[in-house]
Amino acid sequence: MYIDGEWQSASGGKTFEVLNPADGAVITTVPDGAAVDARRAIEAADGAFGAWSRTTAYFRADILQKAHRLMLERKEDLAHTLTGEQGKPIRSARIEVQYAADFLQWFAEEAKRINGEILPSARNDQRFMVLRQPVGVVAAITPWNYPISMITRKVGPALAAGCTVVLKPAEATPLCAIEMFKIFEEAGVPKGAVNLVTASDPKPIGAELTSHPAIRKLTFTGSTAVGKMLAAEAAGRMKRVSMELGGHAPFIVCEDADPVHAAKGGSLVKFLNTGQACISPNRFYVHRSNYDAFLEALTARVSKMKAGSGFEDGVGIGPLVNEAAIEKVDGQVRDALTKGAKAFAGGAPLTDGALSKGHFYAPTVLAGVTPDMRIYHEETFGPVAPVIRYDDEDDVLAMANDTEYGLAAYIYTQNLSRAMRLFEGLKFGIIGINDINPTSAAAPFGGMKNSGVGREGAREGLDEYLETKLGGFAI
Ligand code: ADP
Repeated sequence: MYIDGEWQSASGGKTFEVLNPADGAVITTVPDGAAVDARRAIEAADGAFGAWSRTTAYFRADILQKAHRLMLERKEDLAHTLTGEQGKPIRSARIEVQYAADFLQWFAEEAKRINGEILPSARNDQRFMVLRQPVGVVAAITPWNYPISMITRKVGPALAAGCTVVLKPAEATPLCAIEMFKIFEEAGVPKGAVNLVTASDPKPIGAELTSHPAIRKLTFTGSTAVGKMLAAEAAGRMKRVSMELGGHAPFIVCEDADPVHAAKGGSLVKFLNTGQACISPNRFYVHRSNYDAFLEALTARVSKMKAGSGFEDGVGIGPLVNEAAIEKVDGQVRDALTKGAKAFAGGAPLTDGALSKGHFYAPTVLAGVTPDMRIYHEETFGPVAPVIRYDDEDDVLAMANDTEYGLAAYIYTQNLSRAMRLFEGLKFGIIGINDINPTSAAAPFGGMKNSGVGREGAREGLDEYLETKLGGFAI
């Protein structure tokens, strides 16, 4: 763990194992922190806040730029650490490292544009001045599916704003966090300004982070259930929160779309990270006129996908995070098959040969999915593409919006008016229009409804770490 500028063991001396999800092998062990370690980290961040918050934006930007350069220099090593503990194909790991580094550069630049305002007053003897100041000590809890970019997306803007940070990474992927904190240290982040607490049991750490009075802001990416629980705890102390939670993305293929092109885009985004992404399409709504052609093209692509260790050439499908994930995905697939869906590809766990040692599920296409099936309503977080036929634009809009989630949605159409109508009508925070990658460090990422509150990246992602202060000057 990295607390107050020192690499250290957990105060109880305990450790836990980090496993490779592709073969179950133990990679190494890391400190198993407890509440007392979280408290020490918070105190360090609190102690460092005064000096860090008074540094110039130019000073903070230089440090973030240096961290960005170090990430690019170590891209290959970071990608290897990522594939080792998380499982995604090495090509995807390199892309994540680049995406993660982008946040540091973007927020380094944006740090210099934390401007205030002078507002006109109705009184001649009054002046209004608006200042934007760092919110204070930030607690960050990050997930295992994007274990590097979810760190830079939070720590980048927090440091840019002048906040100090305590970060708890997911228990499955602490090694990426450790490598990132080495980079922050080398880049010159002063001691105490960033702190890392690793732990096998997140609950006591989470309880400390949500209850300690020095923490002024909690930023969380993970499941909706845990996010709601943490937000409720944080509310007791009126801490600010940003929550990036689950999704249940619709992917709408309209009658005027090219079904083959849509199937290519759909398969690329659906099976990215083996479906373990909050913006992964979970419901493919295909217009009746394109249904058969889309299914055929999607099935052809999915049937060719190779599962295995992310280090092997040609592998596009890595393991799921653990056995519980396999059971969840398989439970949804069994339920759908029992209720009349048909598996055009996959439909079961993969256990042949070396795959038996990891957590692998066959990339799956389910046709004939209907609202009585669990997969129609529940987030899957796995490699399953459920395909649903529709007839009418108003109906598909209503069906797509009929979910408690509101993160990402996708539309394929060549008709500009239709694209605009659907874009405006979909109740989701991120919408790809003939675009399967509507994300960037410069673009606001976040959801509505049960998908969370707040935005990451972009100008909005920096605002999350700033307080607005008004000065009224009588002259
Ligand atoms: P997932 O289902 O994707 O694993 P989780 O919400 O369980 O998502 O995990 C996301 C992050 O939240 C991880 O860092 C995990 O350790 C953390 N987490 C899980 N439960 C708690 C909790 N009770 N308190 C604090 N953090 C938690």
